[in-house]
Amino acid sequence: MYPKLEIDLFKIRKNVTTLKKICDSYNIEIAAVTKVFCGEYEIVKVLKDSGINLFADSRLENIKKYNNLKVKKMLLRLPMKSQAKEVVKISDISLNSEIETIKALSDEALKIGVKHKIILMIDLGDLREGILNFDEVFSSIEIINNLKGIELIGLGTNLTCYGGVIPRNENLSKLSYLRNKIKEKYNISLQILSGGNSSSLHLLLDKSIPNEINQLRLGEAIILGRETAFGNSIEGTYDDCFKLKVEIIEIKDKPSIPIGEIGMDAFGNVPRFIDRGIRTRALCAIGKQDVDINDIIPIDNNIEIIGGSSDHLILDITESNKSYKIGDIIEFKLTYGGILKTMTSPYVKKEFLS
Ligand SMILES: *Cc1c(COP(=O)(O)O)cnc(C)c1O
Repeated sequence: MYPKLEIDLFKIRKNVTTLKKICDSYNIEIAAVTKVFCGEYEIVKVLKDSGINLFADSRLENIKKYNNLKVKKMLLRLPMKSQAKEVVKISDISLNSEIETIKALSDEALKIGVKHKIILMIDLGDLREGILNFDEVFSSIEIINNLKGIELIGLGTNLTCYGGVIPRNENLSKLSYLRNKIKEKYNISLQILSGGNSSSLHLLLDKSIPNEINQLRLGEAIILGRETAFGNSIEGTYDDCFKLKVEIIEIKDKPSIPIGEIGMDAFGNVPRFIDRGIRTRALCAIGKQDVDINDIIPIDNNIEIIGGSSDHLILDITESNKSYKIGDIIEFKLTYGGILKTMTSPYVKKEFLS
């Protein structure tokens, strides 16, 4: 059944084992981020078996899929106030920056007799989530300290998501500075400094991570085997744990310029073409509903992606050394966005290799 996403659990296991070895040597705990694969249970189990005990996702729907596993669960996206009740029920820890929401979490936690753990998010300049102003950090701590349903366990930050800001010793050190100030001012000891996502890994590879950072939240590094500040691959990992397989439904020689007056395409854009003469095209059964065609990379590198519509992908196979037939399967590697969308599409079947 196609299109199909083939998920190689052996390779994922190898990736996480490699990363765990690196992080262990710096006493850094990995929070394995499950959002790119929608919290898929089979994958979470492999990560757990490889020694991961903390799992994190932006969406409660994904965390629910591995609810029965005895692991710590962390909500990554700042909770919606309206979901406070679910947050304290489903997750052990959440990342937060708004007192309004933290109060709501505290109330709901008290109702069910738990203490909900939070990490307070600090914006170190990337300008997505987090408290930017240090005075606001201190005033928030004073309030949180009096909330009976909340245990503040640490500080965290997220970089290279909106602003593209690169994690460095200089910016991450601000977390340790804040922790020390909080200890001084309020005699509160915070155990966790959560120093970002896969873009912070380069600081381990070049040994410049501040000592005090003891947690990283890793998604892309686990599934694509790379740090994401510069996009370098990490030795001992695979970048093809996920492969997309699609079936050819038409092969014909056609001109490279459409015939007739050119208006808008299916997505409202006016397409432009270069005349390269008659080319051999393969039409495949997958479309923009399932994946962005810029997020897939043909493994046969003589194949060129020339376009797509909702349900079709058009390839130029003129230069390929293989002679493709109707019903043949074309394979692609995927970018982060490609994995995210194909995992999310119910039309793409998932198959696990172990
Ligand atoms: C998605 C996310 C991560 C993981 O990012 P990767 O680049 O996939 O490692 C970490 N922290 C937060 C807050 C996130 O939203």
